[in-house]
This record gives sequence, C-alpha cells and structure tokens, in this order.
Amino acid sequence: MTRPVRASASSSADRVRLPSVDLLLRADLAAELVLRHGRAPTVDAIRKTLEACRAALLSGAEIDTSEPALLRAVAQRLAVEDTPNLRRVINLTGTVLHTNLGRAILSEKAVAAAVDAMRSAVALEFDLGDGVRGERDDHVRGLVRELTGAEDACIVNNNAAAVLLVLNTFGAGKEAIVSRGELIEIGGAFRLPDIMARAGAKLVEVGTTNRTHLRDYEGALTAQTGLVLKAHTSNYIIQGFTKSVPAPDLSAVARKHGVPFINDLGSGALVDLARYGLVSEPTVRAALEEGADLVTFSGDKLLGGPQVGIVAGRKDLVARVAKNPMKRALRIDKIRLAALEATLRLYRDPDRLPEYLPTLRAFTRTRSEMQALAETHLPAVQAALGPAFAVSVIECTSQIGSGALPLETLPSAGLAIRAAEAKREGGAVEALSRALRRLPVPIVGRIREHALILDLRCLEDEALFVEQLGVLAQRLKARGADVLA
Ligand SMILES: *Cc1c(COP(=O)(O)O)cnc(C)c1O
Repeated sequence: MTRPVRASASSSADRVRLPSVDLLLRADLAAELVLRHGRAPTVDAIRKTLEACRAALLSGAEIDTSEPALLRAVAQRLAVEDTPNLRRVINLTGTVLHTNLGRAILSEKAVAAAVDAMRSAVALEFDLGDGVRGERDDHVRGLVRELTGAEDACIVNNNAAAVLLVLNTFGAGKEAIVSRGELIEIGGAFRLPDIMARAGAKLVEVGTTNRTHLRDYEGALTAQTGLVLKAHTSNYIIQGFTKSVPAPDLSAVARKHGVPFINDLGSGALVDLARYGLVSEPTVRAALEEGADLVTFSGDKLLGGPQVGIVAGRKDLVARVAKNPMKRALRIDKIRLAALEATLRLYRDPDRLPEYLPTLRAFTRTRSEMQALAETHLPAVQAALGPAFAVSVIECTSQIGSGALPLETLPSAGLAIRAAEAKREGGAVEALSRALRRLPVPIVGRIREHALILDLRCLEDEALFVEQLGVLAQRLKARGADVLA
C-alpha cells in the first residue's frame, strides 16, 4: 500500500506520519537485515533513511512513506554501505601497469602464497632448522642473488622507500652527487631532490639538463661525498644533443674515491625483455655487472609482483642498509613477502614466464590476437548498448605504464564506442563511461576524440566482462536514458 505524501507548510505534520525507528525494527524484513548486517548498522540505516525522507518531504517531493517502501530503502542503503570501497575493476585503459589501478596483477602462485600466509602462522622471522630467530628477508635473498648475480639483497615497502633508505644510509650528513638530467619526478610526490632532503643528504647537482660529463662528477667528489647516484630516467627521455656518463665509468670514479655507486633502476627487469619481443629495459644483473654497488628497483612494475622495493648488490653495503633503524619502519609484511617469493620463483623458468605472469602475458599479446578478441566481443557490446551507440573494432596502442619504457607502445586493438547521433557525441560517451564505472564490477576505459576506447589487452576474465555487459543492458532497459544521465 503506497501512501504518497506531499509536504505541507507545516513540517511537523509530516514528521508524525513517518513511522518510528522502533516500529520499523519490529518488521520481518528488519529482522532479516539485523541478521545479515548487525543491529547497530541496521538502526543507523533506518535513522538515516527516515531523515532523508523527512528532508525530501520538506522539499516538497512526493515519496512513498509506507513501511515496506521505507524498509526497502533501508535494505538498499545497507547494501550500498556493504560494498567495499577498494573494489575490483576491469582495466580496459590499455595501460598494463596502471599505478592508479594498482599496477601489476599477480600470478596465481603469488596469490595462493599470499592467501596461505594470511590464513596461518608462518616462519617469518624464525629459523625452522635451529629454532632460533631468523630474518624475514632471508626468504627471498637467495632468489634475488640467483636471479641478479647480487651478493645480497634487502626488501622494503616500495622502490621509493628503497631509494630513501639507501640515500639515508650513505648520504645522511653528507653529499650525494646526481646528474641534473636525472633529477626525476616519478609522480605523486616522489621528486628526487625532496627525497634527498628528507634522507638528510645534501644534493650536489652536476652537469646540465642535457649533458653531463665524467669530469663534472670528478670535480664534485670531495671528502663530503657520501655516494654517487644514477637514476634511471624511466618516465621521460632527453633527446638530441645529449651526453650522460656510462655506468662503468661512474662506477670506476666512485670506487677510486671510496664511495658507493648506486643505480636506481626504477622498473628493473629481471630478464631481458627482448627475448619476448619487447624493447630491452636494463636488467638488474646488467646494472650490477656495469659496476653498480647497489641497485634499487620495484616489485610491482616490470617484475609483475607485489608492491615492494628491492635493494640488491654488495654484501657489506646491503648489511649497512639492513641495519639502518629506518629499515624497521619500511619493511614489508608476511603477505607481500610470500607473494614476492612466489613471483621470484617463476623467474627461474623464463621460458614459461608469459604463461604464468599476467603482466608479461599482457605485454606479449599480439595485435592480431587483440583484434580477434575485439571481434569476439563486439556483438555483445553492441547488443548491450543498443542503437544509441555504434561499436567498431579499431587499432590502438597500449602502454606499459608506471613510468616504465615511456616511449614503448604495444600495438593493440580494441573497441571504439561512439554515439550514433553526432550531435550528442561528447555527452553521450561521457555518460556511458560513467555508467560503466558504476557497474558492480566497474569497467574503466579511456576517452579519445569523442569515442570511448576499450583496449582489451588486460582483459583476463572474459566471462566477467560479458556478465557486466548484461547488467548494463538490464539497467539501460529498465531505466533507459536515466542510466546515461
Ligand atoms: C617508479 C620509480 C621509483 C619509485 O618506485 P615505486 O615502486 O613507485 O615506489 C623510483 N625511481 C625510479 C627511477 C622509478 O622509475
């Protein structure tokens, strides 16, 4: 029974007409909601629903204030509150390592290892052989050594933390020499000069933006020098009349002076990506062979693992880094450690890496493969959207992302969705993009020249994608243009 109520001049009359919290709580549906969500959240949702009704009535809206209608609204409010804030999305942006979408998707082995570590106690800092205290980094040290040729390694929260920790260990109260061409900003607030200051190191810039010579470094090395840093310019390149000093020369000059030479690789590949048909990115092994005393790199960029930062290199220097009290504040937990170990193990068999590592699988999908995939899904997308949109298969380019290999693009294919009526094109495509983001599992694409592009390179779960298209179709049918409002 519906009872439309119109707000009158006096709001007190309307207030009387709304049932009380207690009355609503006694209904059968309320009892079910209490069972599912708990008493306090249900009472809270009832209160908020009644408040919203009151405000709506006051503003003159006509709403159904019957008990069943109110309880339906309460149930809906509770359902919305129950959806997690951090939600799974379908990444169809074409950027494989999308920092804002959480970078690398982990291998099933890493997922299983992380789940195990979450479910049970683990020998995190416990030596099962001797029954004495162990070190958490011990679980991956051997693997990093084997895969990079480093003497030793230590693991922290992310590569930004690795750089901070290394700078603080060797540069606090001293000077750190960096080329002006490598004073990088990675995004967010990671700017090398700022990190340097927080690490307590005095930045000594050498050379110019486009050219730095060995003599620039030699001239800057003094008794105050704590380290020489080379930072991989991972998210830009300087072209034209340029010069930078090769790592072996830098290493030699730092060694002569008795200070560590640090190479911040950023992405740091563990295998030469050329073997998978991609552009080569410096490997950690190569950087160490070229004389870096320590190399720092990320776990969730090209490596395709969890967010961690790895410091690898000379044993005596790693020991100093590990002993820095800041290490305790920057260490990783058992869940990520388990995922990292499982990811590193996959690298022992590089031949089968693309099969197991989603990141590499995404990098190595060919354009013809992408084209076939787009053609497969075109009919379902067109059917879901109806005649208001025109869907076509297009060639596009995907990106590696997270600042790795900035100029390297991957030939790809995807679906372009345009408004059928040219006069509405911009607005309709924006609205569609919003509707896709509001799906139970949001689909995120990118808009280019009035078209919504769905690059299917990172589409792993096709059934889920099709299911979401079904939800979209239903919503469009039920609410028509409202969904696209
Ligand atoms: C990405 C990057 C960092 C920061 O690494 P995070 O894993 O994002 O913390 C530092 N240095 C370089 C050269 C990078 O490319």
